[in-house]
Amino acid sequence: MIRRLVDLHSHTTCSDGSATPAELVRLAASAAAAAIAITDHDTVEGLSEGRAAADKAGIEFIPGVEISAEFEPGTMHILGYLVDESDKNLNAALEGLRLARRERNPRIAARLQDLGMDISYDEVANLAGNEVVGRPHFASLMVRKGYVTSIKEAFDRFLAKGAPAYVEKERLSPSDSIALIHKAGGVAVLAHPYQMKLNDDDTKDQIGHLKDLGLDGIEAIYSRLGPSERDRYANLAREMGLLVTGGSDFHGTFKPDISLVNGLGDLEVPYELLLEMKASAARSRRGVD
Ligand SMILES: [Zn+2]
Ligand SMILES: [Zn+2]
Repeated sequence: MIRRLVDLHSHTTCSDGSATPAELVRLAASAAAAAIAITDHDTVEGLSEGRAAADKAGIEFIPGVEISAEFEPGTMHILGYLVDESDKNLNAALEGLRLARRERNPRIAARLQDLGMDISYDEVANLAGNEVVGRPHFASLMVRKGYVTSIKEAFDRFLAKGAPAYVEKERLSPSDSIALIHKAGGVAVLAHPYQMKLNDDDTKDQIGHLKDLGLDGIEAIYSRLGPSERDRYANLAREMGLLVTGGSDFHGTFKPDISLVNGLGDLEVPYELLLEMKASAARSRRGVD
């Protein structure tokens, strides 16, 4: 029997992927996936286009979002599935994050000016050209103007976290991220848990804490994990009464080694996991859980 496979983690041009939502859905259909989720970073903008393309291609569409939550020392991304993308609360919160990020670079420029450097945001933006402006562009302008002798020095003395010109990225707390997803009718899943950069015991503790906050599942079947690690996270999820999910984290040509649905060639996310997720979402909506 041929297993029906799904991909529950992918990015489009609405965040940092290279394929439009419609292109991505067509790719999933040609890879014979039974369902595809679009999970762009902090935006639900691509979902309506994705859904329309999925209707045409005859593939099931799962609306999603990937929220970056505040976390130290690593990265914590929380996936929201089956969210209502017209939810006002969700849209307002995501819009707030985007606005705050747009203000981040001008604020870094202002800090450097306060420190006596002739560095304007416009100059940095010019230098970046078509690229998304980031701290490396500030650093190279600082080198050019002789305030530091290397990019590394620019970061160490001024731009790195904890340094005087560092401006915090705007993020939601894990608790707010999960609540936001739930309020929009969705299921909250911890993406690629190994990226929290915690040891085994701390990973377990952290996931327990997230479960207390309402977390519904763990993304165990992930492109960059080996078979034994996938099993380990899946077992952990089962032990803790959490859903198991999986996906490629496809970014198109920006991460060329990762294919949609197949990941690095060995990804298999069975349709049954999606069924469990949908059942869980239906139960929470009825207020059973
Ligand atoms: Zn992520
Ligand atoms: Zn992702």
